[in-house]
Amino acid sequence: MAVSPDSPVVFRARGLTKVYRMGEVEVQALAGVDFDLRQSELVVLLGPSGSGKSTLLNILGGLDVPTTGEVVYRDHVLTTADDRALTEYRRDHVGFVFQFYNLIPSLTARENVALVTDIARDPMRPEEALALVGLSGRLDHFPSQLSGGEQQRVAIARAIAKRPDVLLCDEPTGALDSTTGVLVLEAIDLVNRELGTTTAVITHNAGVAAMADRVVSLVDGRVTSIREHATRVAPRDLSW
Ligand code: ADP
Ligand code: MG
Repeated sequence: MAVSPDSPVVFRARGLTKVYRMGEVEVQALAGVDFDLRQSELVVLLGPSGSGKSTLLNILGGLDVPTTGEVVYRDHVLTTADDRALTEYRRDHVGFVFQFYNLIPSLTARENVALVTDIARDPMRPEEALALVGLSGRLDHFPSQLSGGEQQRVAIARAIAKRPDVLLCDEPTGALDSTTGVLVLEAIDLVNRELGTTTAVITHNAGVAAMADRVVSLVDGRVTSIREHATRVAPRDLSW
């Protein structure tokens, strides 16, 4: 989906810091991050391990709060929201995909997705969500009968079936080889294009960055560069 500079801003983060205290030791995970995410944009957050990528994504997704700074999601100020408001925000607006798929082993692909669609307001049918990620032929497979890449695509179907406004993916290909990982990135790319879901994808793999509209690089809890791409490289043409 084309993202114009006047697309509405979905997230506006300013001056984010995050300090984790472990006994005597303090770790500064974020050291003053400003970050915007525009509607329907696909952003890759790129950086080495420990650079603060997950911390930033978790704050955007309402799973964690910064030590200082502000995050605004559309007209909601997340940084002053209480736990209950953050829970509602996550439920109504955010789809998460993590490195490990967190599927329920005793449920089929269709049933894993239905767990979410049963409680959502305007969900897709599980079959529709699974078709979007190319798994129409695996509806009644259990997780143990699926490859790692297929399990991750079920997790993506589960994340998008409630039609979230934003999709946040933390190292979605981290546990996969590159051949399988491509299919997962293709599913994310397709969801972003077809549904216009605003998407952030974390990776430490620089080769993945070319699929993004914009690449935000983090080092030591700071944004070190922001790169815009006039055109996106299709996941199958990435070199990584
Ligand atoms: P990345 O996702 O880029 O690998 P993280 O955001 O997970 O980085 O972590 C940034 C830094 O914060 C790291 O040094 C990490 O050890 C530390 N950190 C992350 N989460 C916690 C936590 N819950 N408690 C203590 N330290 C943490
Ligand atoms: Mg991480």
